[in-house]
Amino acid sequence: SIRMQGLRKQFGRDSVALAGVDLDIDAGEFFTLLGPSGCGKTTLLRILAGLEEADDGQLKIGGKDVIDVPPHRRSVNTVFQSYALFPHLSVRDNLAFGLRMRGEPAAERNRKVAEVAEFIKLGSLVERRVDQLSGGQKQRIALARALVCEPDVLLLDEPLSALDAGLRGQLQVELQRLQKRLGVTFVFVTHDQDEAMVMSDRIAVLDSGIIQQVGTPSEIYEHPANAFVARFMGHDN
Ligand code: ATP
Repeated sequence: SIRMQGLRKQFGRDSVALAGVDLDIDAGEFFTLLGPSGCGKTTLLRILAGLEEADDGQLKIGGKDVIDVPPHRRSVNTVFQSYALFPHLSVRDNLAFGLRMRGEPAAERNRKVAEVAEFIKLGSLVERRVDQLSGGQKQRIALARALVCEPDVLLLDEPLSALDAGLRGQLQVELQRLQKRLGVTFVFVTHDQDEAMVMSDRIAVLDSGIIQQVGTPSEIYEHPANAFVARFMGHDN
């Protein structure tokens, strides 16, 4: 589980990215942070990952205080929209990179890479160089690379937004199925209401660094807590 209490973050003098966020995410949940551009989604994700420091507040992951724990020791992994893969390396070497950095022996690395490649159905893609892949293929590799390290929590920052509608719909289904099968906690960031509605167990709607509502997709859609949520979820008011 993830427990956030009073998380605050300000950039410079006037830009309040997070104005005190309290949020609990259960282990094994597909949890979505939903809101318009600039509402603070990415900042919150970066604080969970340990890539950004909160000005104030508490953060526990798996019952452990992690606010001072560096990113690589949090059992959290991140998939960015920009993939962050090594273009000149093969898919296999990209997948093995994190394991190699952790000092895992070659046999272990090969076993884990093969397992995830099978799981995500990469097939012969594993031998290809990343710069020879399509956007959708790169997205699957980025996901595979995050999963190969066996995190308890996977953070996904708009991972599907660069894809065309057809592929996006397909990966939405794949991703959701994968999450349930692995039982990994997903914290998924999107500005797309429809995407949030179809994929999530629960959603937190953010605006101006403040959580406006937390609930299941149908709770939020059918009983918006305020005018902002109603408008954002596509109600006419
Ligand atoms: P988007 O969907 O456009 O990525 P977001 O909801 O992820 O938006 P954040 O990136 O978290 O929003 O930004 C929240 C606020 O903090 C914005 O007003 C942004 O301008 C500001 N901000 C974020 N990072 C920085 C930074 N490094 N320096 C200054 N201001 C920042």
